[in-house]
Amino acid sequence: MSVWREKEYLDGKTVDAGVVILRTSGCVHSKNGGCTMCGYNLESSEGIAPQDIVAQFRAATENLDGVQFLKVYTSGSFLDQREMPPEAQNEVLGWCRENGQSLLFESRTEFVTEESLGTTANVHDDFEVAIGLESANDKVLKYAINKNMTIADFDRAASAVKSAGARLRSYVLLKPPYLTEAEAIEDAVSTAKHAALKSDTISINPVNVQKGTIVERLWRSWSYRPPWLWSVVEVLNACTELDRKVVCDPTGGGRDRGAHNCGGCDEEVLSSIREFSLTQSRKRIEVAECECRKLWETILELEGLVVGGTPDLQRFFRKHRA
Ligand code: SF4
Ligand SMILES: [Zn+2]
Repeated sequence: MSVWREKEYLDGKTVDAGVVILRTSGCVHSKNGGCTMCGYNLESSEGIAPQDIVAQFRAATENLDGVQFLKVYTSGSFLDQREMPPEAQNEVLGWCRENGQSLLFESRTEFVTEESLGTTANVHDDFEVAIGLESANDKVLKYAINKNMTIADFDRAASAVKSAGARLRSYVLLKPPYLTEAEAIEDAVSTAKHAALKSDTISINPVNVQKGTIVERLWRSWSYRPPWLWSVVEVLNACTELDRKVVCDPTGGGRDRGAHNCGGCDEEVLSSIREFSLTQSRKRIEVAECECRKLWETILELEGLVVGGTPDLQRFFRKHRA
């Protein structure tokens, strides 16, 4: 179990939020191969008893005094009762009800039903469901991500969330494997537009290289580079036209395994991205020019044309020069 506090933009202001990651038996899809970029199954273990999850949550609440928004992640689906048995779900929901907390949890679409949402709302009705749409392109979902979900599945689940009177947060993946940098930007922008049709919040999630994944295997053979932070900025700026809350907090940002630029400008760009999320000012992100922006622009033009795939040449040359 992990627990920490962070800031979140909620109902027009920045508030204290709590984040709890519960160890469960993990995502049902990860047992059938899982998504190409997801290493969360390493955080899970089979045979975790319901009382164990309840105890983890109770221990976490000792650090959550005064938070106004609670995010509970299970590295899978909160609404999957094989993963989060009813007593564990009720413990979280009941605590949020008693403490007047708004709750965010994640779920795959197959568990988001009128029935599961109704059961949830019976205990606590102030909640937001986060769903990994990832891409609004069925081919990308199937071949690049192996999501085992279609856009139609997402649309159905999104409608169920709205009918239940809950809020919807949609995750948009930036740069699944096998897409060039330019294709990845285009895919993320069109996915965000699709998500905006029903979502209250859109979370732009740049891929980070997690252990034990297909993405890691490609990255180790120099065949994958996580997105440039310039690409993240490009996508967020395109999202300013959407009348939605748009958030982004690149995991591993500025490092080889996360979204990064040249190393010199990363911190400045990352802090502009965080500022964008926390203020929702809808102002386009403007960051001082850096030499590496020209390289990024060249890659957008040439990648996929001159070289196949999306090689990580910068890291390759850095390592072999050393
Ligand atoms: S990204 Fe979500 S659906 Fe895919 S394997 Fe990971 S937890 Fe499961
Ligand atoms: Zn730079």
